[in-house]
Amino acid sequence: MKLAPRAKDLNRMTDEQLLDLRLCDLPLKIEGTPLEQRVSWIRAELDARGLLFKPHVWLSEEWFTPDDIPGFAIPFYLAHPRLFKLERRQMLKVEGGAEKECLRIMRHEAGHAIDNAFRLHKRRLYRELFGLFTRPYPNWYKPEPNSRQYVLHLPAWYAQAHPAEDFAETFSVWLTPGSRWRRQYQGWPALRKLEYVDAVMGEIAGTVPANKSRLTVADLSEIKVTLREHYANKRRHYDFQWPPDYDRDLLRIFSTEPRHQTRPSAVSFLRRHRRELCYEVAEGTGAHEYAIDQMLAQMINRCRDLKLRVGLQQEHARKKALVLLTVQTMNGIHTGYHRIAL
Ligand SMILES: [Zn+2]
Repeated sequence: MKLAPRAKDLNRMTDEQLLDLRLCDLPLKIEGTPLEQRVSWIRAELDARGLLFKPHVWLSEEWFTPDDIPGFAIPFYLAHPRLFKLERRQMLKVEGGAEKECLRIMRHEAGHAIDNAFRLHKRRLYRELFGLFTRPYPNWYKPEPNSRQYVLHLPAWYAQAHPAEDFAETFSVWLTPGSRWRRQYQGWPALRKLEYVDAVMGEIAGTVPANKSRLTVADLSEIKVTLREHYANKRRHYDFQWPPDYDRDLLRIFSTEPRHQTRPSAVSFLRRHRRELCYEVAEGTGAHEYAIDQMLAQMINRCRDLKLRVGLQQEHARKKALVLLTVQTMNGIHTGYHRIAL
């Protein structure tokens, strides 16, 4: 039997060696990492609003708040710089990696946790404003980017995903230090939800929650899969369903005409712009960079099959490729894509 590694051993291990480790054997703790400080900041923000509620936290595979638990899970890769690097190599992006983004997600999870702590979703007005908490989670949702019924906090119009997400997002906007939500959402129907959160938080300030459970769900120590299995599953989860026939769209950007035979190939062109295209589309749509990169990889393969070349001026072709990828990503979000529920 192999001995479990120590935290400092991880720095010396290759990606392949790390991938053989089981999650339960990872020597990780929240204490002593930047996560500890970030959690204490969120608790201080709650404290500043007079709320006695303090969510408990633990490490797991992903960000989530389990049903009826007044605390939340933090992904393990944020607890060690070596695993942070592995996550980026495997998934191209580290969800919650930057401090500001991490705090945003923590506020969102604290919103679910306080909802559970005080069972706020059982209130009539909550149901009227946000909808039914017990509604099944959809596999996908179709966001309306211009809707003013919902606040904007996490990417991809996440408040529109489910009533529970709508509440968590509204709570996050309300909790954010220095948030000028009254002015920012003036004239938006979403303002009523913010005012409701403000009133409810005023009411429960100084009171002890009914649900004081300190249970954890899927704690890292219970997860027997290896990192290799974990990443295979995670990548499968993020895969898009690629539309069967988009050759026509590609032919609007690239060319098969004989007079363009000496121009650069579409394959080398897309490869050169790969990182920046993924980044820009992820920024604009909120989809995971891994999913967009997969789509771009398929696009590159198709361009190779069709022997396409860059007929347009390069900057023009880049813009058109950006638009096509964005449209396909939005279609993907609508038809087959699901984010991991934060
Ligand atoms: Zn959520």
